[in-house]
Amino acid sequence: MREASQVVRISSPDGRDHLVDEKVFARALDGRFLARCGVFVLSAPLCTPPGRDCPLCAP
Ligand SMILES: [Zn+2]
Repeated sequence: MREASQVVRISSPDGRDHLVDEKVFARALDGRFLARCGVFVLSAPLCTPPGRDCPLCAP
């Protein structure tokens, strides 16, 4: 797995953990984040249990 850039792991209500680039994460103003796999992820409550790694986000 590459570690070239900082990423933020977002636990999504869909049961997957997506990876969002830190730059994207910092710019998101409406609670939606464009994950590496190309889907918009809504930030889940902190109580959401971690899900499975998104296979498209984590090569
Ligand atoms: Zn993903």
